[in-house]
Amino acid sequence: MTYGQRIFSIVPDSAATPELKAAKVEHLGPPPGPGLKDQRNRVLRDLRLSVIDQCNFRCTYCMPKEVFGRDYAFLPKASLLTFSEINTLARVFVSLGVEKLRITGGEPLLRKSLEDLIAMLSLLKTPSGNPVEIAMTTNGVLLKEKARLLRDAGLHRVTVSLDALSDDVFRRMNDMDYPVGDVLAGIDAAIQAGLSVKINMVVQRGVNDHEILPMAEAFRDRGLTLRFIEYMDVGSSNAWQLDQVVSAQEIVNTISTRHPLTAIGRDIPSEVSEQWEYVDGKGKIGMISSVTKPFCGNCSRARISAEGVLYTCLFAESGTDLRSLLRQSDAPSDTDLAHAIANVWTQRTDRYSELRHVLPRENKKVEMSYIGG
Ligand code: SAM
Repeated sequence: MTYGQRIFSIVPDSAATPELKAAKVEHLGPPPGPGLKDQRNRVLRDLRLSVIDQCNFRCTYCMPKEVFGRDYAFLPKASLLTFSEINTLARVFVSLGVEKLRITGGEPLLRKSLEDLIAMLSLLKTPSGNPVEIAMTTNGVLLKEKARLLRDAGLHRVTVSLDALSDDVFRRMNDMDYPVGDVLAGIDAAIQAGLSVKINMVVQRGVNDHEILPMAEAFRDRGLTLRFIEYMDVGSSNAWQLDQVVSAQEIVNTISTRHPLTAIGRDIPSEVSEQWEYVDGKGKIGMISSVTKPFCGNCSRARISAEGVLYTCLFAESGTDLRSLLRQSDAPSDTDLAHAIANVWTQRTDRYSELRHVLPRENKKVEMSYIGG
């Protein structure tokens, strides 16, 4: 049996597998609170929640059809955390200092009645009484019908993934023949609903690098921030090669030939993207350069898969099973859960992107569609 089958198709109660660790509830010291630091002094502030491992796209760089085909075993419904379980975990993470929740997937809008989850999460308050920021990453196809509902439920921001404006290139990349017009309509609907919108574009050499400039110009004209993501070696399905990566610097150079840019850095150190401003004052773009300029040193993010496995790195090979804990007959208290989560975060040492080029990889990494983007 391969790692992929084990982690994707079988409920993770088998904590005996080295890839899935059991959560440890050890009440060592007082209940943990905000400001939890890991072994590299990184503070927990962000939580990404995957709500489903399925997607309506089969992006060739993320969920290639050869791997995620018709007979691929996605998680059965009973394996997915319920909204109440997700809310419980989110509440505990917020008590530990998380200020921002990002809903992701798979394609999060495929999860039925997602607005009900957003409504629950929108009631959470930080220990100092502030509301928690709620964001979502989506391919945008279903936003046209969902944006208003989501906004009314309490969603604040949406990041729409869009890799090309050319319909032809876009259809080829999503590999399910979705027209780019569906995503553009979703973006319009999100703006009209009052959501704050950003666009993310993954750039792959020879596939969509000729779309860099048209994308930059289109979103600059619309006043929307476009963020370019270096193609990453996430998971083990996409046959990633370093020469397919277009570096952030190359992207900046391409755009600068037409529209000069200056670097303005990050708003906050833990932000994933480094920002660049158009010299003529017409807005900003972002660069997410995990390959050429890793930002592990300021990573504040924890991630929970749709079945409740906690990961501290997008490139992780193993995670901690929180769902078994949540589903124990003797239900854990928030304090129990806080200890279990603190136990993972405070032991964290990972910094995959900084070591990418020097460490050999023996085990398969978790897939992006499973862990969430
Ligand atoms: N379905 C949603 C979407 O399309 O935004 C959320 C999940 S998707 C895995 C999240 C983001 O990860 C998308 O922007 C996608 O382009 C990006 N992504 C997936 N695989 C990637 C890779 N190998 N390198 C860089 N970004 C990747």
